[in-house]
Amino acid sequence: MSVEHPGRLGSVCGAGATSEAGPVRYIQGMPTPCTNGNSALDVVVIGGGPAGSTVSTLMAQQGLMVQLFERERFPRFHIGESLIPETYWVLKRLGMLEKMRRSRFVKKYSVQFANASGKHSAPFYFWDNKPHECSQTWQVVRSEFDAMLLQNAREHGVVAFEGVRVRDVLFDGERAIGVRIQEDGGKTRDVHARVVVDASGQSGILMNKLRLRLWDPLLDKGALWTYWQGAYRDSGRDEGATMVLQTGDRKGWFWYIPLHDDRVSVGVVKPFDTLFKSKRPHEEVYLEEVEHCVAVKQRIAPGKRITGYFATQDYSYRSTKVAGEGWVLVGDAFGFLDPLYSSGVLLALRSGEMAADAIVEGLKKNDLSAEQLGRWGPVFNQGVDRMRRLVCEYYDGFSFGQFVKRYPELSGTVTDLLIGDLFTGRVDRVWEPMESMYPPGKQGPVRWNEGQSPSEEVKRNELILPAGPRP
Ligand SMILES: Cc1cc2nc3c(=O)[nH]c(=O)nc-3n(C[C@H](O)[C@H](O)[C@H](O)COP(=O)(O)OP(=O)(O)OC[C@H]3O[C@@H](n4cnc5c(N)ncnc54)[C@H](O)[C@@H]3O)c2cc1C
Repeated sequence: MSVEHPGRLGSVCGAGATSEAGPVRYIQGMPTPCTNGNSALDVVVIGGGPAGSTVSTLMAQQGLMVQLFERERFPRFHIGESLIPETYWVLKRLGMLEKMRRSRFVKKYSVQFANASGKHSAPFYFWDNKPHECSQTWQVVRSEFDAMLLQNAREHGVVAFEGVRVRDVLFDGERAIGVRIQEDGGKTRDVHARVVVDASGQSGILMNKLRLRLWDPLLDKGALWTYWQGAYRDSGRDEGATMVLQTGDRKGWFWYIPLHDDRVSVGVVKPFDTLFKSKRPHEEVYLEEVEHCVAVKQRIAPGKRITGYFATQDYSYRSTKVAGEGWVLVGDAFGFLDPLYSSGVLLALRSGEMAADAIVEGLKKNDLSAEQLGRWGPVFNQGVDRMRRLVCEYYDGFSFGQFVKRYPELSGTVTDLLIGDLFTGRVDRVWEPMESMYPPGKQGPVRWNEGQSPSEEVKRNELILPAGPRP
């Protein structure tokens, strides 16, 4: 086991590993994946998004030999641009804070909601609730952010490959023993490791293979979005605010996320059928929604659309298991929650962090059981449940403005949820007051796992990218 071997980098296969002392950068040329049985590698990670980069960096920091396989070549487009403050703590562990401060990403200090009639809630300023530098976060262009995270992983000793697709996870009985990879459409090869981490995002390689995906019974939305230049921007500490603007028919919401280079990401999320069932052109549907949402219409009026229309189903789902013998799921490969409160990257980072610590401990104890590798799962799931409850309440008529007016003493706790402080029971004190505002007979939302069984799966979250430029 290589946990206690500081000279681990010397034993990485292939070109590119050049130093035994400092961090190794794989800037030019590609190292060759280790395929020599399971002697050298501790962990293979599938996918180089935020979850994959996080889990690998934190394991490499603690001395593990990690190889990561990413099918795309970075920078590549991805949606998920608004960070929330609790990402700060993981970014700090990753050694990313200074890079974020030096970046061009727009600083975000708050989130604000507007209802269907255009009435705005007071902004939820993170700093007012927690006066600490973590209360300033960022609006990121994901192609740039993800490339920074992956490069940072390399600087910590992770051997990361781009253009290499994982075709399958290899098992010996119940135990995962490695992955089958394919480089740029060439021949397949097997790479063995003691632990396999699936961070393949919505592809959910292991979730599909083992039929673990449960679709959420309530959160069956779709999203349609595009990018504008020169659209309205607030100023001062509101310049980087995420705006959540309810659609005219109250069935969904728009995100309005200011990015650098005077661009704004503006998307609508609604029940899948309302956006896509008619099969009308995306532009027609989008502009119709804009027409019925005065606040968005006014904001984009001075702007020019600079990309085509992006679309995706974003049905929420979760895996019924977080880990098995020798394998772990992180990020969207473990679960995806409706993007209403911009929690996806935080959940990718936090699950990556929790999984990394469990793997390092497991390798030290020589315990790679499901219990050890997934010991963080229950706490993590509880945190996701809290965010999910807030999402479901919103779709079911919850108004932040009215709630805070009735329970001003809970404004800070609501802000705690919005910043992603999800893994503590302290925030649970909002639920009873929320229920007290229910109309007679209304029940709380059903749980995520009260839907259909995995064998009844019929859905797929497909991303449709337009031709032309993508941020
Ligand atoms: C409409 C919408 C809006 C969103 N808005 C926000 C937001 O504002 N803020 C926020 O925090 N989150 C948002 N999200 C969620 C966010 O996009 C995800 O939660 C986040 O990207 C998850 O990170 P990840 O690393 O788990 O997965 P990903 O970022 O998807 O990374 C997975 C990586 O795995 C690679 N991969 C897949 N299959 C293979 C394979 N077979 N072999 C090798 N590599 C593979 C992929 O190429 C990809 O790079 C939004 C999501 C949607 C759908």
